Amino acid sequence: MKNLTIRPINTGYVPTHPLQYHYHFSCAPYLKGVPSEKVPLPVFTFLVEGGDKLLLVDTGMAWTERANDYHHPGSWQEPGMAIHEQLEKLGYKPEDIDIVVFTHLHWDHMFYVEKFKNATLIAHEREWEFANNPIPLYYKSYEHPALGITRPFEGLEFTTVSGETEIMPGVRVFETFGHSPGHISVEIDTKNGSYICAGDSIFVKGNLNEIPELHYNISPPGRYYNIVEAWKSIEIQKARAKNSDFLLLCHDKDLEELVKTTPVLGL
Ligand SMILES: [Zn+2]
Repeated sequence: MKNLTIRPINTGYVPTHPLQYHYHFSCAPYLKGVPSEKVPLPVFTFLVEGGDKLLLVDTGMAWTERANDYHHPGSWQEPGMAIHEQLEKLGYKPEDIDIVVFTHLHWDHMFYVEKFKNATLIAHEREWEFANNPIPLYYKSYEHPALGITRPFEGLEFTTVSGETEIMPGVRVFETFGHSPGHISVEIDTKNGSYICAGDSIFVKGNLNEIPELHYNISPPGRYYNIVEAWKSIEIQKARAKNSDFLLLCHDKDLEELVKTTPVLGL
């Protein structure tokens, strides 16, 4: 058994309204301390070191103008925050990455993918299909050519998966649909236990909370493709993870605090 470790890397910030994105509107009366104004959320990717192969979960968001002009106004990526720039600071080039696995193919999870020239690019077959043929409601999320821009994955070859699949020793992907049609989570075995990179299938840790007044066993998110699948994906991961510390969310503000003192997980 290899000693895999996980390094969360934040690639920028996207401001979102908690009651539009993080939580379903029905939760609103029961939430405490949720701001009514937009909150800038980080956009994490995860570098997995110590294995047979060097693996990256997602490649993160775009530069400021692209994020701002086509996606969420007020988004930003500070100089040096792009994924390839941060890998460089750690002593890696994008060409050194063997596998990039994408939780899903929304714009903020896959920018700069073309720089990973030697990597096997992995996504769920349902996600790959929808990313290439979205309905107009999702043109922005997947940067459809109708917007007059070149989408990040244009011309690239992907390896698609389905069901639960081991993508390298100690790393499994499993289906967590709902936020997007083919969303997957990535489970990584470390000396410390198994962590789950949950992408956007759990938007904030508060999605794990019960709301007894409504008979809710979780607090559903506000942004989804299919709320039934999204609900079940949260249930599945709540049961599968040792505890919520082992759930690594792409947009988790608390993770930003944690990495200040603990930059590498699984040691
Ligand atoms: Zn996202």
